[in-house]
Amino acid sequence: MAQEVRGVIAPGKDEPVRIETIVVPDPGPGEAVVQIQACGVCHTDLHYKQGGINDEFPFLLGHEAAGVVESVGEGVTDVAPGDFVILNWRAVCGKCRACLRGRPWYCFDTHNATQRMTLASTGQELSPALGIGAFAEKTLVAAGQCTKVDPSVSAAVAGLLGCGVMAGIGAAINTGQVGRGDTVAVIGCGGVGDAAVAGASLAGAAKIIAVDIDEHKLTKAREMGATHTVNSRETDPVEAIRELTGGFGADVVIEAVGHPETYKQAFYARDLAGTVVLVGVPTPEMKLELPLLDVFGRGGSLKSSWYGDCLPSRDFPMLIDLHLQGRLDLEAFVTETIQLDEVEKAFERMHHGDVLRSVVVL
Ligand SMILES: [Zn+2]
Ligand SMILES: [Zn+2]
Repeated sequence: MAQEVRGVIAPGKDEPVRIETIVVPDPGPGEAVVQIQACGVCHTDLHYKQGGINDEFPFLLGHEAAGVVESVGEGVTDVAPGDFVILNWRAVCGKCRACLRGRPWYCFDTHNATQRMTLASTGQELSPALGIGAFAEKTLVAAGQCTKVDPSVSAAVAGLLGCGVMAGIGAAINTGQVGRGDTVAVIGCGGVGDAAVAGASLAGAAKIIAVDIDEHKLTKAREMGATHTVNSRETDPVEAIRELTGGFGADVVIEAVGHPETYKQAFYARDLAGTVVLVGVPTPEMKLELPLLDVFGRGGSLKSSWYGDCLPSRDFPMLIDLHLQGRLDLEAFVTETIQLDEVEKAFERMHHGDVLRSVVVL
């Protein structure tokens, strides 16, 4: 029997979000219905609401979530009812060229639920944010979007690994390949940047330099493991990073802003043959201009990190285990827990930049 539950809907461009009754179908082949326990409020949800992703309104928002599998459809063997899972937006196919080459984190054919959830009032089909839609009591996803983890972790903490925190940690450990003794600089210390700081710390970086224009964010970055901070409103970050690294520049610079200016800072703040990782998301009109001779002459690699190049089945359980062992403080990312009807307020607070993550707890 299809079920009716409450969910947070973005009805149209820039309209306030509201709670509506939605219809969640029974899981079909390869699908799962998940009872959501917690879901973080991410910038991407705000972008959906603003019409910045596409115009397939109405959206069912929310995608950084953890919960318990309620039921599964035909052919689902990896998860079962009762499993505690983190939802991911990259359920790898196992069949595309990337998957067959043994690089499933680059999967070109990730999938979502085939059936659509609908609005109970009008029957209109909903577009779930990033194929998840988890600001809801229950949601329908592809079973591959569910990754089973140790259920002793709090759901509010676990859900964050589903998006922003994984993107940041992965930018450091997967894409940047930060290793023991490396020097690392992170430009932009919001949720993703702070997660990159935490990831670099976890990987054994000797020096982690956090760069931001906001003193509060720099204080927070220190709590996450930054050994040095640079306020780039007052100090030239490239000079400062060079000074802090014996005149060389950092081995890995992670750009967590997504802007040509900060990208250039990252490019020139790295050591010769160092690595730049772009994890901040630029907007379509942005252009980058760099002397090609510098790109050649400085060597190394310029990489982009999409979802932290994560493989959920490999990374989620490992990071939850490290958290439970006290080696990765994920609690520090949860600024506040809120109710389902407070998402609109959380967007406002996010806009002012005074929260790392508001997390809806159901
Ligand atoms: Zn694939
Ligand atoms: Zn997100």
